[in-house]
Amino acid sequence: MNPEKIWLSSPHMGGNEQHYIEQAFKENWIAPLGPNVTGFEEDLQGYLGNNSHVSALSSGTAALHLGLIQLGVVAGDEVICQTFTFSASANPIVYLGATPVFVDSEEDTWNICPKALEKAILDRIENGKKPKAIIAVHLYGMPFRVDAIIAIAKKYDIPVLEDSAEALGSTYKKQKCGTFGTISVLSFNGNKIITTSGGGALVTKDEKVKQNTVFLATQARDQAPHYQHSQIGYNYRMSNICAGIGRGQMEVLEAHVAKRREMHHFYKHLFESISDVVLFKEPNSDFYSNHWLSAILLPDYTKREALRLAFEKENIETRPLWKPMHLQPVFKESPYYGNNIAESLFERGLCLPSGSNLTTLDKERITAVVRSFF
Ligand SMILES: *Cc1c(COP(=O)(O)O)cnc(C)c1O
Repeated sequence: MNPEKIWLSSPHMGGNEQHYIEQAFKENWIAPLGPNVTGFEEDLQGYLGNNSHVSALSSGTAALHLGLIQLGVVAGDEVICQTFTFSASANPIVYLGATPVFVDSEEDTWNICPKALEKAILDRIENGKKPKAIIAVHLYGMPFRVDAIIAIAKKYDIPVLEDSAEALGSTYKKQKCGTFGTISVLSFNGNKIITTSGGGALVTKDEKVKQNTVFLATQARDQAPHYQHSQIGYNYRMSNICAGIGRGQMEVLEAHVAKRREMHHFYKHLFESISDVVLFKEPNSDFYSNHWLSAILLPDYTKREALRLAFEKENIETRPLWKPMHLQPVFKESPYYGNNIAESLFERGLCLPSGSNLTTLDKERITAVVRSFF
């Protein structure tokens, strides 16, 4: 019989989640509002600091959608987006009838390259359209080059939508990821560092933006005794049950970050003497990653696939690095700026099991595959 599956990143409950859910049942707050929603938002605001105002939503994708709307993106606009990301970063651009303009990564952080970004902005302006927003992503929990990207955004007066879906607990120059954007986004999907089963949040420093986010997320109902609407609304608010899971998860967030970072150190030790493997790591001490996923680069595609299959044979889940958006069939018409760095990462890279709940036995099984492969 096959041994139990080792997952890339699976939900890890702290223990108190059910207490918050029971409370919701006792008080009959079975709705997309209630004390857990407010409590979870306060927990996140306390954690992020920096005058953050948080709106809990049904997903990170919903948060990106409402973020773009509030940055003024409308049909016909162009929005710059890091190409090396998960499709949810880019899809909401298309929901709005706008066009994504994809920008390559740089080699140190694997995130949006400042040089390619500036080139893209200048070229789009020359083409007659200044981009409405820049979506920058802290992929796998690694902060993007915050100072350089924010400086370019300021220079051209374009707002940054910070996709921090994978980076809760990461910091850049000691400031928490999720607090750098004009608007920032978090995700609590089942595979993220903490989960609400499904959920997300929009983070802003402007209390009015928070109020407007909640307004749009609850069907844009005007003040009136009857149902009245002067804007198109959405049903994007987080449920009070899901928020209960989130409250329990906030109690263990720091512990989960520590465990994920421990997994990174486990891989550092494991691959230390294997010259074919480069472990993805922080470029310098300005960057502090939650190491949501640990990832490696191999010399080429063939070796990468062989290692992936060797893990699969032992019922261990790994996954190639995310396929860049400009190579996705659905985005093949979109403009792209860069030097195929993301393409090469996709060809050679592999994400490894990184959960905060991996056991000593799991690590031994991973070690055994690596030792016999190399
Ligand atoms: C997970 C994820 C999202 C989307 O979040 P959901 O809560 O799953 O909708 C967006 N961007 C990135 C980079 C993600 O990893």
